Amino acid sequence: MEFEVVIGLEVHVQLNTKTKMFCACATSFADEQNKNTCPTCLALPGALPVINEEAVKKAMMFGWAINATINKKSIFNRKNYFYPDLPKGYQISQFEIPIVENGYLFVDKEDGTKRKIGITRAHLEEDAGKNIHEGDHSKVDLNRAGTPLLEIVSEPDIRSSEEAVQYLKKLHAIVRYLDISDANMQEGSFRCDANVSIRPKGDEKLYTRVEIKNLNSFRFIQRAIEYEVERHIEAWEDGVYDQEVVQETRLFDSQKGVTRSMRGKEESADYRYFPDPDLLPLVIPESFYEETKNIPELPDEKEERFVQEYGIKPYDAALIASSLETAQYFESMMEEGIDAKNAVTWLTVELAARLNKAGLDITTSPVDAKKLAKLVQRIEDKTISGKAAKDVLDFLMENSIDVDEAIDKLGLKQISDTGAIEAMIDEILANNEDKVAEYKAGKEKLFGFFVGQVMKASKGKADPKLVNELLRKKLS
Ligand code: ADP
Ligand code: ZN
Ligand code: MG
Repeated sequence: MEFEVVIGLEVHVQLNTKTKMFCACATSFADEQNKNTCPTCLALPGALPVINEEAVKKAMMFGWAINATINKKSIFNRKNYFYPDLPKGYQISQFEIPIVENGYLFVDKEDGTKRKIGITRAHLEEDAGKNIHEGDHSKVDLNRAGTPLLEIVSEPDIRSSEEAVQYLKKLHAIVRYLDISDANMQEGSFRCDANVSIRPKGDEKLYTRVEIKNLNSFRFIQRAIEYEVERHIEAWEDGVYDQEVVQETRLFDSQKGVTRSMRGKEESADYRYFPDPDLLPLVIPESFYEETKNIPELPDEKEERFVQEYGIKPYDAALIASSLETAQYFESMMEEGIDAKNAVTWLTVELAARLNKAGLDITTSPVDAKKLAKLVQRIEDKTISGKAAKDVLDFLMENSIDVDEAIDKLGLKQISDTGAIEAMIDEILANNEDKVAEYKAGKEKLFGFFVGQVMKASKGKADPKLVNELLRKKLS
């Protein structure tokens, strides 16, 4: 039987506001434990929450970016459950009426067409604190308690683990472009839960899903989904689907590459949601509503502009635009008036490979955009060959030095002086009279031999185009 994979993703994005969702405490939770707390986020009796306007604005900007409906009136609810890192005994979240509803974005299907992924909702809520286990005792750090989160819930429209990763990378790029979150996955400011099920191809019904938690890298998300899909298909084929696949929450063990049952899935009724009596409905004034429509250029728009403006390939444009920092780096290179295709190659191939090897990324690159552009310029103005430029780049990765100084120091300046090259050619031809005779008698492939000899004599520094030209003249 052929199966179809059904995936819906829930993403928690920590908004990069200065203060918490309902109090004036700082959001920097790496500080000394419990430093950033106050009566409100410690849940002392009588302390009242106040909605953070910046968080509301950032949630709305996200809504505009995914073509969603922004609800001018939304409600904050209490989601009741007990956990030591949740001193109030409930989390303030949004339930029936979230601030953002009915958006979408597109991913590329395997066949090259696009698939529209519905985004059911994006709602504001507060984060919990952190339990710390040390030996035989446990501690609670409430620095993170009350930090604003935007929970983004997709429709079950995603059809493969690759599409899931694409969807997440798009979301990631969007929140970075909007500058509403630093979206650092390792630090937990961009977290994903994946809901996964399968169904016989052609069946429209939704089958039992499991929710996988604890996914903090794109690679883990892909592997966890693939493992889970395999498990469902095997259970179906072995006739034990109903016993093996139950609605539950599972954890991904990244060491072993497997998912494991954590607990039965709670239903929303378990949480006894009700509107928080301490908070009035959130009503957006008309002027604020209009103001938030002012959002920066988005990844898809940038990608399209790169193709139009610089004539680069859509594939390269997509690659560059997928990260805000890479896009900024590229545009900074283009300001130097270099050829766009050269910029793409030196950024996405040469620099990328070296960063990758050094365990760095574009934000920590020892070679900045202006420097890399200058290196490209030196190839374009024929000061160095493309091959020599690779050595210069290697050197620049290790040494904080100007491009021209590096070229000097490495002695890689290209020889494009006709006289000097002619002298080398004359000498080589004189030393290889037999080969010259063979060439003139028709053995044309010897031409490459002569080119090689000249390049060798010049220690690779002769301008190869000029060498070719002059050799042809001399040999004719
Ligand atoms: P809950 O209220 O239990 O969290 P939701 O209806 O809000 O459930 O769905 C949570 C997520 O699970 C959404 O992203 C949704 O698209 C996804 N989802 C729901 N049913 C399925 C299914 N059968 N297979 C895969 N994903 C699903
Ligand atoms: Zn506080
Ligand atoms: Mg839900």
